[in-house]
Amino acid sequence: MSHYTVNCLLCNAINDERVTSTYCTKCGGVLTVRYNQASDQIQYPLANPIPDPLRHAPTELRRLDNLSERYGTEIWAKMELQNPSGCFKDRGTYVEVLKAKELGADAICLASTGNMAASVAMYACYFNIPCYVFVPENTSEAKIAQVNIFDATVLRIKGDFSACEQLCKQFAKSGNYYLAGDYVFREEGQKSFSFELLEQQPYMFDTVLIPVGCGTNFGAIHKGFKEAKSAGKCDVIPQLICVQPEQSSPVVEGIFKRKKVVHESVSTLATAVAAADPIDFHKVLMGIDDTNGRAFTVSESDILESLREMAISEGIFTEPACALPLAALKLNIDFFKGHRCLLVLTGTGLKDTGVVAKNVLPSPVLKNDLVQVLDFIGSGYPILQSQSFGKPRDTILTQVRFSEDKQRIFENYLQRINKKGKSLTPKEQEALQTLVFDEDSALQFPVQVVDYSIIMKRNGLVHSQVTVEANGQSFEMTHDGVGPLDSVLGALNKITTGILPVELTNHQLEILSPGTNALVVATITLSHNNTVVEAKAASPDVIEAALNAWVKAFAILYARFS
Ligand SMILES: *Cc1c(COP(=O)(O)O)cnc(C)c1O
Ligand SMILES: [Zn+2]
Repeated sequence: MSHYTVNCLLCNAINDERVTSTYCTKCGGVLTVRYNQASDQIQYPLANPIPDPLRHAPTELRRLDNLSERYGTEIWAKMELQNPSGCFKDRGTYVEVLKAKELGADAICLASTGNMAASVAMYACYFNIPCYVFVPENTSEAKIAQVNIFDATVLRIKGDFSACEQLCKQFAKSGNYYLAGDYVFREEGQKSFSFELLEQQPYMFDTVLIPVGCGTNFGAIHKGFKEAKSAGKCDVIPQLICVQPEQSSPVVEGIFKRKKVVHESVSTLATAVAAADPIDFHKVLMGIDDTNGRAFTVSESDILESLREMAISEGIFTEPACALPLAALKLNIDFFKGHRCLLVLTGTGLKDTGVVAKNVLPSPVLKNDLVQVLDFIGSGYPILQSQSFGKPRDTILTQVRFSEDKQRIFENYLQRINKKGKSLTPKEQEALQTLVFDEDSALQFPVQVVDYSIIMKRNGLVHSQVTVEANGQSFEMTHDGVGPLDSVLGALNKITTGILPVELTNHQLEILSPGTNALVVATITLSHNNTVVEAKAASPDVIEAALNAWVKAFAILYARFS
């Protein structure tokens, strides 16, 4: 006799775990584990539960002093980002992997957007069972690195998470494989959150704010409290608060409609909660009803603001999903005032540094020169970098104060670009500013390009004519090349060889926005006597950008060797 049964949450049918641990074979509903007896020790649906060998200590429960003072209410955090893989998923993975071993599976497989993949790869590796992970092609590099280091097979699939999920389900049937995911045995592991919390804090929180994707973690936390309450370990369950991004909120929408909602697709920078088809919607609805809970949404900019506020105020760097609870608390402070609030901080920020990189003005590469460094700090750019985090850039960038000579270079650039009838996108402005910071305003130009023209010839070659100015005189040169760039640079080389012979060792073009009128940054690398220098220039005109970069690199070499 087993000490538990696996029941359907909707039709109550008893399911055989050797046949399914995902959906009810009768009605397709989600499953839940029922124990024959209440116990004041946490119960797992395992024949021989061993303690989790990768997790010896509870995650920290911390009072957030600065935020509590700022918002005039008790705010605490449960640091789930301290779990071994950097995310709470480990609690559920521990049970899933032991269950896979118990059932004698040959391997574990799962589809994931990253965190679950990293967690399952880690436990599967430790417990010596092969692991296959299906991830969408655009999964964060850090999360894939975690899967790789734990020796799992990474299957990067064209398409989104749903595509991976479908394929992985088929794969699971192709062998004796355990299909892991947001299913019934994961919930059993993740409920340890609530038991652990009750051990740490004998008196209860009034509200627990949880970032929700599929709803599995929310359901697990609720189930943990319910089982603890049945065993007399607590009298009341805190109000459970479900928070989702506005742009990915089928669960919140479903709670208001009181029926499951599935979105076609969802997109949010909080990728860990981007779930269009929330498997455990019914468990969230039950948890909200049972605890008189609430459901809130927050905007993308709310998420970024709270992500930064948590870092700056409390020294905690989380991934964007974990900013949802604080954002919801701030937006609904009247509701939360006077409550003891617990924020569930589900995962570490180091897993998704790309979000920060995308939302901060990039740091230009500066010359190895103290004057340049002081100039950069004096420009106010670093202050703008911190003020502009997550905000629209267009107005911010006009506030950079260049030194007078740099400002001249910048305006010169803008003038030339405007003459071509182009207005800059924010990203292009940034690139231009980076370029200007890097410019040496004292650099003397022995040659300057005045004009150029190109003609395609019948034989497929490109004929070009380049006009430069040197020592107040004008020179013209022609050249036939295999392409426009090859042709004009060839012509220019003929002119500069007479002054100082140089060799073109590399060239590169970076186009900064879609469309035909994009700003192009050209990088030209020239060498003379084994000295290699690189210079960059920008223009909406590819050829002009390349010519100007050449002229600049040439000027640097000329200053050293003439
Ligand atoms: C998986 C995950 C969530 C969402 O959990 P669900 O169980 O899908 O609701 C939230 N935050 C992080 C960091 C996660 O990895
Ligand atoms: Zn059923």
